[in-house]
Amino acid sequence: METRELMKKATIFHGHICPGIAIGVLVAKYVLEHGFERSSDEELVAVVETDNCSVDALQTLLGTTYGKGNLIHNDYGKNNYKIYSRKSQKAVNLALKASVLDSKKLSRDEKIQKILDLEPEELFDIREIEFDPPILAQIEESVPCEMCGELTMDSRIMGYQDRNICIPCYKAIKK
Ligand SMILES: [Zn+2]
Ligand SMILES: [Zn+2]
Repeated sequence: METRELMKKATIFHGHICPGIAIGVLVAKYVLEHGFERSSDEELVAVVETDNCSVDALQTLLGTTYGKGNLIHNDYGKNNYKIYSRKSQKAVNLALKASVLDSKKLSRDEKIQKILDLEPEELFDIREIEFDPPILAQIEESVPCEMCGELTMDSRIMGYQDRNICIPCYKAIKK
């Protein structure tokens, strides 16, 4: 698909046009053009190291979404995107090149145009990586917190003086 077509789709989902969403569009473009298909379930997994605007392009164009659990955020503050395909057992890492967008003379609009005119290979350092994706999203039992009563995933329950309580309640006591 054309970069502009992808950009249009991503912008509808994201809400506004910005350099970040353009970067995400180029990630998706590369992935879709290299044998990875949009993921209706968990065929694809994206592990991203940023939580900026770019991630929304992956959610809408690649189907790697927060709600399905096949979008994982490592909070490293870098524009690095690892995409795993369970179907082809392949994985790729795209890392934003430091030099491409650092010109301070570019306005925001010029930056967006510049990104959209590039090929993914010009914007990112791209390499194949080992196929070792995170495990599939787990469905987990929920139990009521013994303080507030709200249903809470079992793995998030804290023990406090023989009571099983949720994290917010635990934090409130510890204050
Ligand atoms: Zn944005
Ligand atoms: Zn609670």
